[in-house]
Amino acid sequence: MSQGKKPLSSLLSSWKSKKKETTSNEIPKIGKSTDLLLSPSQRRLWFLQQLFPKNPFYNYSERHRIKGNLNIDYLLQSLEGIYAKHDVLRTSYYISEGEPFMKINPKTNIALKQFDFSGLDRVEAESKANALINEEVNYPFDLSSDDLSRFTLIKLDAKEYIFLVNLHHILMDEWSMGIFRKELVENYEYISRQNKLPLKEPLPVQYTDYAAWKNEQNIDEKQLAYWKSKLGGQIGLLNLPTDFKRPLTPSFKGKTLTKTYSREFSSLILDLAKELEITPYSFFLSVFYVFLNKYTGQKDILIGTPISNREKSSLEKVIGFFNDTVVLRNTIDGNSSFGDFSKEVAQTVLEAFNNKDVSFETLVQTLNPQRSLSINPFFQTMFLYNDIQDTLSFGNEVVSEYQVLGADVSKFDLTLFVSNENGIITVKMEYATDLFKDRTVERFQNYFEVLITEIIGQTRTSLKDIAPCTEEEENIFFTDPGMVNHSFFNFTGIHQIIEKWAVETPEAIALTFDDQHITYLELENRANSIAQQILTKTEYKKVIVGLCVERSIAMITGLLGILKAGCAYLPIDPDYPIDRITFMLMDSNAPVVLTTSGLEQIFSKTNCAIVKLDSGFKKIEKKNFPISVTEDTAYVIYTSGSTGNPKGVPISHGNIMQSTTGRLEYYPTNPSSFLLMSSISFDSSKAGIFWTLCTGGNLVITPKRIEQDIQKIEYLIQKYEISHILLLPSLYKVILENCNLANLGFLNTVIVAGEECTTAMVKTHFSSMPNTSLFNEYGPTEATVWCIAHHIEKGDEDSKTVPIGRPVAGATTHILDNDFKSVPFGAVGELYIGGGCLSAGYLNNEELTSSAFIQAPWSDDIERIIYKTGDLARYNVDGDIEFLGRADNQLKIRGFRVELHEIENVLLKNSMVKKAVVLADQSSGEETFIDEKISHEKMFSILEQRLENNEIEELIESVTALKDSEKEYLFKQIKNS
Ligand code: AMP
Ligand code: MG
Repeated sequence: MSQGKKPLSSLLSSWKSKKKETTSNEIPKIGKSTDLLLSPSQRRLWFLQQLFPKNPFYNYSERHRIKGNLNIDYLLQSLEGIYAKHDVLRTSYYISEGEPFMKINPKTNIALKQFDFSGLDRVEAESKANALINEEVNYPFDLSSDDLSRFTLIKLDAKEYIFLVNLHHILMDEWSMGIFRKELVENYEYISRQNKLPLKEPLPVQYTDYAAWKNEQNIDEKQLAYWKSKLGGQIGLLNLPTDFKRPLTPSFKGKTLTKTYSREFSSLILDLAKELEITPYSFFLSVFYVFLNKYTGQKDILIGTPISNREKSSLEKVIGFFNDTVVLRNTIDGNSSFGDFSKEVAQTVLEAFNNKDVSFETLVQTLNPQRSLSINPFFQTMFLYNDIQDTLSFGNEVVSEYQVLGADVSKFDLTLFVSNENGIITVKMEYATDLFKDRTVERFQNYFEVLITEIIGQTRTSLKDIAPCTEEEENIFFTDPGMVNHSFFNFTGIHQIIEKWAVETPEAIALTFDDQHITYLELENRANSIAQQILTKTEYKKVIVGLCVERSIAMITGLLGILKAGCAYLPIDPDYPIDRITFMLMDSNAPVVLTTSGLEQIFSKTNCAIVKLDSGFKKIEKKNFPISVTEDTAYVIYTSGSTGNPKGVPISHGNIMQSTTGRLEYYPTNPSSFLLMSSISFDSSKAGIFWTLCTGGNLVITPKRIEQDIQKIEYLIQKYEISHILLLPSLYKVILENCNLANLGFLNTVIVAGEECTTAMVKTHFSSMPNTSLFNEYGPTEATVWCIAHHIEKGDEDSKTVPIGRPVAGATTHILDNDFKSVPFGAVGELYIGGGCLSAGYLNNEELTSSAFIQAPWSDDIERIIYKTGDLARYNVDGDIEFLGRADNQLKIRGFRVELHEIENVLLKNSMVKKAVVLADQSSGEETFIDEKISHEKMFSILEQRLENNEIEELIESVTALKDSEKEYLFKQIKNS
């Protein structure tokens, strides 16, 4: 056979001149002496195999279990007959001037590896056979060698064999195997009767003829136009929730998980497909779309499906690789029913198959979708459906049952194989182990099945209302965690619990600031005196009292005084802009402010009565103090509101008692000494204040802006033998990186909270403070400090994200889609919180309250409210919740909740601003403590994330402060960007 080095162009021209001799409709035969071009599909395989030479992903394997008196010689001759007939089976591949070619080898004798395990006991024989098979199936082929077929025969006993067929896909496709099996049994039967092979009836065309012809075909422009319109526009990545980060280069390692349905269930399905007037193919494909939609929340979904594209009838009996991939794109509208949707799918399938002559390569080249080596273009999942044939009969009572085996590979993220074997449905999922754990795919399988069950009764129901749960999901999603139960509930006000310590351990240190300390008894006395002063202003009414004090002992005695007076405290940071302070006082109707002389003037323009904390304490007899009930508000915290004004969150005594009690149950130790770093304007401060003071510990208050003095933190931890701290993870990382760790030895428990905790921080923790327990607390102000928590362990540093964990303090958690339906376990949805931790709603703002505090959609109990956090979350494979960012424009800046729309609305108050867009640049990842001026390029790249070019232009146009020349310069920048 010639290994000619003729350049491709001359090959093509010699081929072209040949073409003229034939009519255009047929596939002409080519001489066997020429260099043979690969078909476009073969070339794709060839390139991929060069890219990953050791990968068995294009192995095709079939295991036959043959029963009867097998004649091995006949089997060999039968195979040789097939090989003699189909040239492609004898091809091997070589490169000439960078191009791959195939050559046909003359020899047809087959090498059959034989093993005899019939002497072993059956179990051992089977297990040895399986090991052999597994090795064979995963052994890659070398495309440059002559051996692209391997056959193995294992004798299990006198009348039972395993016959393993192993071929490289470049020789064949699934359709070809039908021909292969048919010819195998025909040959065998003939030989056993006539003792010779049937007379060879030569094929009208060989695959090699087809390959040459296929290379000469022009792209069908009409079909291409169909694909251009079908696959036009933005094509997103399918966001299946994965267990691992997608690697930059995929390993293509894979596994499969198979589930066989009962005969009853299978026939329910097949009957329904008939009733809907669609094929089982379209039925399962439609379910797969719905499945992917439920897991991803995406509506526009693309799925690949292989087809054997034998364009001419003369190719029907030809073995070869005719496979191509068709892209099926559908949009799922939650309002349409399964019945309607499945018809749309069937229509898409029909159209796609009618336009199948444009190869996948051509689509990729002409439409140029977003590409990278780590992701398949257009789609990340595949769908296959097939009807499996009956048992093969070799005649003479030799029969075989076969099964297609896969190597341990997965070319895509997830492939769904559905097969129908005599009315029994089997669903096989092949998945990339780079992305998924086995447990996750088990859940996929279970969900797929309940999804079908749900659909069966409800083909007219809107898809958005089809939201089944597996049994496991039902248990996780709808079982309430046990109520918190503790002696604290004998009290009706959180301050009463603190008061108890003045009796039990009056001399114990309660508060520390700088070098000052006060005992529990002193705390009680001072707070009583303050309460008494407040009562003279409030006339014993339960009102909101502003608390505006610099960080000091008085900050906490004042806070306690307000609670003792039956009032709720409203923390006011003296550094807040005056407008904000005034707004908060007005909005909350606070008639009284507790402050100090130095800060008094902040309130000069308000009507609030002032109680001064520095006017000394009188030891008073506690008399007639109002009695708090658990529904009374204990404090109000203002957080950013998107309308341009902050919103007040009132928290009741019941809320904060439950939140604090939850700590006693969750944490192994209570704080003997807690370093209070957060501002009392943040709800995170409540953790330290109430946990410590309710359990008799020492609350050590840091000076203002402690985060800028890391050495001071180190000093305080050492000096006051701090056992517990709660802080932002970013700050904790800075501490770990800058402190002398030997001085932090007293730390027993570190809690990070308020923003996403990174794996980098966790790594730093375990390398520097391995003996200190680390916890991640999650919770919005509206759900009282915390409602989900996770004990961080060393393994978390290797996970995709550090989980926030599981519900605590009697909270319930729900991950829902936009229609308030539970998303499947593992899928991303919005996090909702329920339970006794929830605030009653925003202060004096019914509209906002009703949009964020909604009635649980699955419950008839109107008192059952859940809070919409705006956070995106999912369950990880182990059942811990992961935080995945925001669903809206809120962000955290050093622990501060900021609604970007609030800033926009404030900017709009300036008459020079016509339009405002505030964007966060989170590209740098880590928070920096430096304010840098950003370049134009960076600004555009940030703006581009949210705006179209014309909108950016409009925005620039609207900035009246810019000179024309400056605007022109900026416009030019947009054009260039
Ligand atoms: P705040 O009301 O100030 O406590 O802020 C609550 C918001 O902070 C949540 O809705 C989250 O967006 C974010 N947050 C709080 N704790 C965490 C955490 N542990 N991990 C990630 N984000 C958090
Ligand atoms: Mg919080």
